[in-house]
Amino acid sequence: MPVLLIAEDDEDIALVLTRVFKRAKMTVLRAEDGQAALDLIVQEHPDVIVTDLGMPRMDGWELITAVRAHPDVSLTPIVILSGHLRPGDPRAGSAQCCAILLKPCPNDQLLATVQELLDIGPHEHDSSDSPCPAEMPVSV
Ligand SMILES: [Zn+2]
Repeated sequence: MPVLLIAEDDEDIALVLTRVFKRAKMTVLRAEDGQAALDLIVQEHPDVIVTDLGMPRMDGWELITAVRAHPDVSLTPIVILSGHLRPGDPRAGSAQCCAILLKPCPNDQLLATVQELLDIGPHEHDSSDSPCPAEMPVSV
């Protein structure tokens, strides 16, 4: 089974997301903040990471930077799922993530995005203007 890590500090949203992905036959790991997520990612090597942006201890942007800098997990596909990202946020353009989805995101869109990244698998990201070669749709 594919392993998905969800970094989400909101308990209710985390429960809903966990249910959605478990129903899609994925193993779901959940972390309550960015630092806990990073620890779990390094330990468990999930296939895809779905992260919130606003979290205690380490936010989503910092988590993405830390994952990309860690040699064991740097190629892991990452999806940002946020309710607080404004259109045109410059950080969205240069973030080394694969896709950006805004809450509330329809479950089928979320699942399709994660599924596509599972198919693509691990891949490199550089820090230029379009850092992800997967060129997934960004909904911001
Ligand atoms: Zn990517």
